[in-house]
Amino acid sequence: MCYDVNINGGTQSIMYNPKSAKAEEFISHEEILDTLEWADKNKNNEELINKVLDKARLRKGLDHREASLLLACEIEPKNQELYALAREIKEDYYGNRIVLFAPLYLSNYCVNGCIYCPYHKKNTHIPRKKMTQEEIRREVIALQDMGHKRLAIEAGEDPVNNPIEYILESIKTIYETKHKNGSIRRINVNIAATTVENYRRLKEAQIGTYVLFQETYHKESYERLHPTGPKHNYAYHTEAMDRAMQGGIDDVSLGVLFGLERYKYEFAGLLMHAEHLEAVYGVGPHAISVPRIKKADDIDPSAFENGIDDDTFAKIVACIRVSTPYTGMIISTRESQKSRERVLELGVSQISGGSRTSVGGYTEQVYEEDTAQFDISDRRSLDEVVAWLLKLGHIPSFCTACYSSHRTGESFMAVCKNEQIHNFCTPNGLMTLKEYLLDYASPETKKLGFEAIDRELKKFPEGAMKDALLKNLDLISSGGRNYKF
Ligand code: SAM
Repeated sequence: MCYDVNINGGTQSIMYNPKSAKAEEFISHEEILDTLEWADKNKNNEELINKVLDKARLRKGLDHREASLLLACEIEPKNQELYALAREIKEDYYGNRIVLFAPLYLSNYCVNGCIYCPYHKKNTHIPRKKMTQEEIRREVIALQDMGHKRLAIEAGEDPVNNPIEYILESIKTIYETKHKNGSIRRINVNIAATTVENYRRLKEAQIGTYVLFQETYHKESYERLHPTGPKHNYAYHTEAMDRAMQGGIDDVSLGVLFGLERYKYEFAGLLMHAEHLEAVYGVGPHAISVPRIKKADDIDPSAFENGIDDDTFAKIVACIRVSTPYTGMIISTRESQKSRERVLELGVSQISGGSRTSVGGYTEQVYEEDTAQFDISDRRSLDEVVAWLLKLGHIPSFCTACYSSHRTGESFMAVCKNEQIHNFCTPNGLMTLKEYLLDYASPETKKLGFEAIDRELKKFPEGAMKDALLKNLDLISSGGRNYKF
C-alpha cells in the first residue's frame, strides 16, 4: 500500500502497510517520521487532544498516531487527564492485582555484538557460564523456596553453546523440578529471534509467552547498535513475532530498550508493531515491557544520549496503558523501588521480584556481579516486595491460570476486552497469594496478606463464584494447592 504523507514540508509517497509481512512496511520509517511531525505540530491543539482522550475513554485503544499525540501533548491539565484515565483503565482491567515473576539466566554465552549489552562477544573479561541441568534444578529449587511460580528464562544467542535443544531440555527440567509445595507453572522465554520450526518446538514444550525486545525500531540505529552477529539482521529480528505466531505461539511480548533511540520514535514503532500483529493475526501482544538501559559490566548508560527521565518514563507507561488497555505491562528490577511505585498505578501489571541477573545467581550466597546482565536497582527479597505491594494496596498474584486453562492468544484477548478477566483473575490471585502466605511468607507479610484477602473477600460479589472461591481457600488451608478458575 502506498500513502502520500507530508514530511518536512514536502509530499512523499511511502510504503506503509500494517498487514505486510515485511518489517520495513509494517514499521514504516516514513510513517513514524510523519506521525512525529504531526504530533509535534498538534501538541498544543486542545480540541484534537480532547478528541483523542474521549476516544481513549471508550477503552478500545488508540492507534499509533493518536497515542503519539498524547505522548507529545504539552498542555499540563490534559496530561493530568491522561494519568487519571490510565489509573482508571488499570483499575478496570487489572484491578489491584500485580503478577510476580523472576528471570532465570541460563547462559551468558553470546555471539552477538550488541553495543549496550555486557554479554557481547568482544567482552573477553566476563566469565562465560552455561548452567548444567543439575545447576538449573538447584536454581529452580531456590526460586521455588522464595515462592515463585512463574519464570522468564533468558539466554544469550549462541547456536553452539545454547542451541534450541539446550533451551528445550532446560524447560523440561524446570517444569519437572518440584520441591516441597513448590512448582514452576509457567515459563516465559526470552531468547533470540529464531525459526518457525523452533517456535513450534517451544510451543510444544509448553512455554507461556515468547518475549523478544525489539531494542530499537529505528533500522539505521538498530544496525549500528548490533554491528555483528545474527542479531544484526533488522528484518529477521523485527519479523520474529510473525514467525512465533506461525509456529503456534499466540502469546508474544514486545518491548524496546529505552535509551537507545528517541523515545517518541520507539513509542510509535511499538504501537505499530502491536497494530501489525492485531491486523494479521487478530491478536495483539500479550504484554509490553518497558526496560531502560542500565549500567552493566563494560556498559555505561551515559554513553547513550537518548536516556529518559522518570517523568517521561511515567508518561510512556500511561500512554501505553490507554492505547492498549488489554495488554499486560511489565517492569523489571532494572527500575528502582521509587520508579516502580509510580508506574504500578499508571498501568504496570507484572513485575519481577527478588531477581538475580547473573547465571547461577539464585544459589550463590552473595551478588555475583561479574556475570550479571545489568545492575539491579531494586534489590529487595521477594518477601519484601510482596509486603511492599500489600502496604500499597495491591494484591500480589502468583497466578498462572490463563496459560494452564488455555486462555491464551485470541481467547485471552476476547475475555480481556470484555473486562471479564476480573472474574478469573481476582479469585486466582487471591488463591495463589494464600498459597504464598502459607508456604513462604514472613510473619509480617503473612499478617498483611491475610488482612488483604479478607478485605477483597468483603468486596467480592455474592454468588456461585464467591462460594467456589471460599471453598478453595479452605482447601488451601488444609494443604491443597494449584486450584484455578
Ligand atoms: N539474547 C536474547 C535476545 O537477543 O533477544 C535475549 C536477550 S537478553 C537476555 C534480554 C534483554 O536485556 C535484551 O533484549 C535487552 O533489551 C536487555 N538488556 C541488555 N543489556 C542491557 C542493559 N545494559 N541494561 C538494561 N537492559 C539490557
